[in-house]
Amino acid sequence: MSSQAPVVTRFAPSPTGHLHIGGARSALFCWAFAKAQPDGGGGGGGRFMVRIEDTDQARSSEESARGILEDLAWLGIEWDDGPMLEVSRLSEPGSASTSGDRPAVRVIGANARPVGPYFQAQRVPIYARFLNQLVDSGRAYPAFETNEELEAKRKAAVAAKQTYRYDRAAYQQFPTPAARRDRMKQADTHGEPYVIRFHAPSEEIVVRDQVLGDVRIAAGELDDFVIRKADGFPTYHFAVVVDDETMGVTHVMRAQEHLYNTPRHVALQKALGFRTPVYAHMPLIFNPDGSKMSKRDKAKAARKAVKDAMGKDPAITPRSLAMSVGADAKNLADFIAGENDSLDIAATLARHFNIPLPEVEIYDFRNSGYLPEAIVNFIALLGWNPGMKQSDGKDLEKFDLAFLARHFSIERIGRSNAKFDRAKLLSFNGDYLQQLSDDEFTRRFIAWCRDSQPATAAALERQFAANLPALIRMAKPRAKVLRDVLKVIEFALVPDDQLAFDSAAVQKSLRANNDEGLGILKRFAPVLESVEPFTPDALHTAMETFAARELPADPAGKSNLGKLAQPLRVAITGSGVSPPVHDSLACLGRARAIVRLHRCLEAAQAR
Ligand code: GLU
Repeated sequence: MSSQAPVVTRFAPSPTGHLHIGGARSALFCWAFAKAQPDGGGGGGGRFMVRIEDTDQARSSEESARGILEDLAWLGIEWDDGPMLEVSRLSEPGSASTSGDRPAVRVIGANARPVGPYFQAQRVPIYARFLNQLVDSGRAYPAFETNEELEAKRKAAVAAKQTYRYDRAAYQQFPTPAARRDRMKQADTHGEPYVIRFHAPSEEIVVRDQVLGDVRIAAGELDDFVIRKADGFPTYHFAVVVDDETMGVTHVMRAQEHLYNTPRHVALQKALGFRTPVYAHMPLIFNPDGSKMSKRDKAKAARKAVKDAMGKDPAITPRSLAMSVGADAKNLADFIAGENDSLDIAATLARHFNIPLPEVEIYDFRNSGYLPEAIVNFIALLGWNPGMKQSDGKDLEKFDLAFLARHFSIERIGRSNAKFDRAKLLSFNGDYLQQLSDDEFTRRFIAWCRDSQPATAAALERQFAANLPALIRMAKPRAKVLRDVLKVIEFALVPDDQLAFDSAAVQKSLRANNDEGLGILKRFAPVLESVEPFTPDALHTAMETFAARELPADPAGKSNLGKLAQPLRVAITGSGVSPPVHDSLACLGRARAIVRLHRCLEAAQAR
């Protein structure tokens, strides 16, 4: 490969679902490697490309492709080359402070190299050219066996205790390239289905992997695999090899599960006279229990919830459950028996049992209220580390995209499996949230809420208007993910006449000691009506003044504010746990606070 050629890495997702956390990690490493290349100046000399591998027409969808691109953009992993995507500046971090003279949207991929199309399904004529080249040079041939015939051959091999490998019957049947071309033409004219197979080489194949070292495949091990399917689309192996060459890819960095495919790619490159890019296969990502992290984890969690529920209540059966959740009884029974891992059923059951499903895809983490910078930082550590120490001697673990773009190197990618430690990710996210300014925290929460819970966002904006930032800020110290804010401020969203008062809290804070709390609340009610202005500070002062004047001093000199604050908290929020009472009161506003206080007094007296 010419030393002048710019480094080009690529992320090549198949648009068959959401962006998986492992895919995001692959994309991040490819991006970081390209950005870490010198350009004679400040770095960023390489290019990062996204190519959509949609040749499996039955499983691919435009919607998934778009979702994957949006998730990448959300993470801040932007491609130089690839499909164009408009992103709204408003949803970008820090955009609250950006000046108004910038355009409201910008386009990722607007300055792409002209090596597209970036969707494989649109590249079929390019593949056809190279397929013809292989047929003409005798390295590929049409094969007409039906699936049943192939299956019979496979069974016969198994019965004879031999490894099945396609027997090249079709190659022998039409011995010359010209005879094969004629046969293909004839079949094309009559719409007769056939595949094209690669005539695999008989020599040893060596994959020089930058992470794993040399991987050798003995001579004769490769079979004559299919490179064009009966539907006319190339197989993954063929498309990837043609694209990597024609799109100028210099470095292929992907998960180790593809290592098994790489010898096929190297063999095809040789047959086509292509260059072989640098390969680096990255470690797999495992759950802490040693299982591979996958979408199936969601089904496992839902199945466990069903089994727990059935264990507790024998009246719950697959049939009764199917009735209550409105699912097909057979599908549900199969799901419970572990015979299918339907994501739809898992989601339905999770809603029914009110349990969270483990996040696996970027979409899930977004939905739970993780920050992109926390995810990017965390996934960068799945199989890589910068090998640096902080000033306190601990390993440096917290860094951003700009740091990665300066320090990423293939040499520091590990060989062993990476472990996905959810507790660590949550703690990273909590740290990142707490580091945001109050304004940025508020902005991020509102953006998240509009995206993930639009109805709640609308209700919040309608009910609280100018008080909304104060309400959200109040939840900040208690939030590890943005979704936590909802739990903290839930009390304020409930209509005043529907707020339920937790009976244990009422007992403890209002009725105990001969209705001590109840009495204090009654005496405080007129104060609450007249506090002016109704702000956190003024409310706090009013509560302190009242406590100092009205409540018997504690002999140990301990503040007696709690004697007022606790009953007031129950009255305002319905429970004994909430953010500071003066903040909660200010967010509700005077009128609502007073309605709640009187409702609580009535409810407590009626018990
Ligand atoms: N389309 C493949 C996948 O999604 C990409 C493999 C590759 O990077 O070559 O797994």
